[in-house]
Amino acid sequence: MLYTNLRDAAGATVAVRCEEGRIADIGDLSGQGLGGQVQDGGGRLLMPAFVEPHVHLDKTLYGEPWRACTAGPTLRDYIDNERRVLAAQTTPIAVRAGRLVERLLCYGTTAIRSHVDVAPDIGLAHVEALLALRETWRDLIDMQFVAFPQTGLLCRPGTTDLMREAMRMGVETVGGLDPAGIDGDPDGQLRFIFALAEEFGAGLDIHLHDKGELGACQVERIADYTQGAGLGGRVMISHAYCLGMVSQARLAGIGRRLADLGISLMTSAPAETPIPPVEALTKMGVTVCCGSDGIRDAWSPVGNGDMLERAYLTAYKYDWCREAEFALALDCATGQAARAIGLADYGLHVGARADFLMVDAETPGDALCRRPAQRRVVRAGRVVAEDGRML
Ligand SMILES: [Zn+2]
Repeated sequence: MLYTNLRDAAGATVAVRCEEGRIADIGDLSGQGLGGQVQDGGGRLLMPAFVEPHVHLDKTLYGEPWRACTAGPTLRDYIDNERRVLAAQTTPIAVRAGRLVERLLCYGTTAIRSHVDVAPDIGLAHVEALLALRETWRDLIDMQFVAFPQTGLLCRPGTTDLMREAMRMGVETVGGLDPAGIDGDPDGQLRFIFALAEEFGAGLDIHLHDKGELGACQVERIADYTQGAGLGGRVMISHAYCLGMVSQARLAGIGRRLADLGISLMTSAPAETPIPPVEALTKMGVTVCCGSDGIRDAWSPVGNGDMLERAYLTAYKYDWCREAEFALALDCATGQAARAIGLADYGLHVGARADFLMVDAETPGDALCRRPAQRRVVRAGRVVAEDGRML
């Protein structure tokens, strides 16, 4: 398959030849013959497919009747409220999550990392549902899962055994949640989850909402454990609001360690809460990506799954307006997100998997600011979605 008449980020006319699901050639291919099937890209902007590095597919209420948040003010209130809402749900996870996966694909996302709840009240039901969902969608979208102790790990007896069982069942990454703020035992939680990761040869992805110095100390402990376990390059800290609250000098020290150890950061770019300074940390060599987190769930009905919008929100957070800044925001939803979740063969280069988009936009910045619905989504070399609809 040959896709012609596309434009790259610099405005040059390019073509992409795909063979066996991979990019066989890319660039100015005008001197080459037009063998095989040819599709005219109509001058659209060529972009790599989006990567969603942090979502909670198992808990979405996507496609269900409207529901605004009803939780109390604390993190624990939100967690308890979600248990009540999910317990009352009658639509199966496979249906709700399936609707959301279809939407993500139509927006141009072809790889997802989803956390999946593991807790005594639900056992492994969410894990079973998402593992089955992955099989259903495997030709269209890559899915990775993180075993996530949403209600607490050490403070909820029985959760550690469920975490181990989830890993045995095929979940590939070990999760964690506010080792201090939720479990009240930072070393206890970190000791367990890093030992579990070592046992399964897995990486880790830890939700860290704890703010200020309490959070910053835990980032440093996570770095210590990563170093001790030799898990450099395989650890992500999600949210890490605390890194938007520490002094410049402290940030420089922590940033250096994160870069050296290949510990990546994920932000959902919330408007009110401080977040890790994306530009400064990226310059230090830290991989920073942006993700949706919960989409239309009991935490909040906000979010639509469009990574172009998530990248826009990241740019909006900082009042970015320059092309290089827009490019960085988009990188958080593409290249850096792929690196953060360890995707091999990602990108717009020969040999990479042929997952890309043709967007009706002048430049990447234009795409970010307008977020046009006109997108053609190519997965493994073939068009799978067009202008918001699956083909
Ligand atoms: Zn999350």
